[in-house]
Amino acid sequence: RSSSASASSSSSASSSSGLPAEDASSKSNADVFWAPFTSRDHHAHGASEAYSFASAAGNYYTTATKPHRQILDGVAGLWCCNAGHGRERITKAVTEQMRTLDYAPSFNMSHPIAYEWARRLVDLAPDNYKHAFFAGSGSEAVESALKIALAYHRANGQSQRRILVGRERAYHGTNFGGMSVGGMTNNRKQFEGSLLPNVAHMRFPYKPSMRFSRGMPDGFDDDADDFVNDLRHIASVHGAENIAAVIVEPIMGSGGLFVPPKGYLGKLKSACEEVGCLLIFDEVITAFGRTGRAFASDSPDFVRPGVESDKGGMADLVCLAKGLTNAVIPAGAVLAQAHVHDALQTGYEKMASDENLVANAPRAFHYSGMMPGLFHGYTYSGHPVAAAAGLATLDEYEAENLFSHAAQMAPLLEDAVHTLVDVPGGKECLADVRNYGCAAALELAPLRNKSTGAPMFGAAGRAFFQFAFEEGLFVRNGGQGGDHIVMSPPLSITPEDISFLHDALARSLSRMSQLH
Ligand code: PLP
Repeated sequence: RSSSASASSSSSASSSSGLPAEDASSKSNADVFWAPFTSRDHHAHGASEAYSFASAAGNYYTTATKPHRQILDGVAGLWCCNAGHGRERITKAVTEQMRTLDYAPSFNMSHPIAYEWARRLVDLAPDNYKHAFFAGSGSEAVESALKIALAYHRANGQSQRRILVGRERAYHGTNFGGMSVGGMTNNRKQFEGSLLPNVAHMRFPYKPSMRFSRGMPDGFDDDADDFVNDLRHIASVHGAENIAAVIVEPIMGSGGLFVPPKGYLGKLKSACEEVGCLLIFDEVITAFGRTGRAFASDSPDFVRPGVESDKGGMADLVCLAKGLTNAVIPAGAVLAQAHVHDALQTGYEKMASDENLVANAPRAFHYSGMMPGLFHGYTYSGHPVAAAAGLATLDEYEAENLFSHAAQMAPLLEDAVHTLVDVPGGKECLADVRNYGCAAALELAPLRNKSTGAPMFGAAGRAFFQFAFEEGLFVRNGGQGGDHIVMSPPLSITPEDISFLHDALARSLSRMSQLH
């Protein structure tokens, strides 16, 4: 799609492409800009067109290079611009807030807009979530939740509960805690040996017979039990009394959009209760409409049927980011149930008299003089401009009915991706198709070395990304092995956009089949 919209460049050193002029002596732009999760060689995916966006409006980006093309944002940025781009209400709120109160700290202090933001989030969230702690990103939200879980047990006199349980293939951001409980091997490999101790991993709840399930895989009750038993095994090896928390994404996003089988999360909650540990939902990508509801936590698909209290949200802690501010300003948050929050306000008497702690820590007397509260936070916790963006984002979701719109678009997206097996190249190239709510993934069959037949993991994903981009669609290639194509379009996606997305994917698959 070419666009008449001209992408403006503020740099006087711009080249005719619209991008800053490259330094002829040595450095390309992709060299100077050290891109996250990207090697220099893969930065431009080896293609002649630079993959840079100069502007965005609604559900489309405009490329920086000429001729400027409009590209359907099939990922809502990085699962974060849930309301689409250029929402005037959010822009206005942010600019006004910058003029009124650009920054104020939250340590021992606060400001009205942070209070308002906390209240609005708690009101929107399922009933059990009563307190909001703010951070600067999803990784910080995860780090905060893990630390809160450890501090909670200590405050309750159970300082031996230190084991954090994550899952294979999970993504919980890139800070040390999130990386350690995460299970994406590439993200861990470079730091092996320096990850957090006291971490165990369960399997991710998927098996080949779930392939091509529409929505949440149904009819896998025994498998759900089996996967949840991993927690009981971990408890039997390490001692249930030593487990602090289990952290899971209700739907695994970055790992390749893996939707758990029906009943799995509810069974996991029951196992957490048996073990006596906390359950943390990392809802960084599932909250704010992605499932067609405000949170995955308040969808009947994600709680125990018939357990009244689960309807109020069955996780003890919930991590949020991304759609929290429509990504206009970076922010993260942790929602907490009252028992967790309250333990940290009053629990230090118990901690001071914790025999285990006193016996094992020669300087335990330090704790007896400790003030109650959580000794953790960030300069940008509850940043007023993030709060303004967050409040305006919630207004936008509400005014445009974006969560229910997403629920209406979900079946169209489901059809759009599952019917791809029938297009030319579909059967040959697709190893799996998965979807839930306003998110979908294609798992590509890996390309193979023509002479040895060995799989070249990641090559299919990179080629597909490039084909889709040329067809006018932005997708995300990644996941374990690199051949998962994940889509999480803005909730404002229209039926016309979905049919464009289907056609772009179909054309890309047909081009892909030439490579096999
Ligand atoms: N948790 C989940 C489930 C995520 O998908 C992400 C980011 O993709 C994060 C945490 C980390 O968020 P951030 O990149 O804002 O640190």
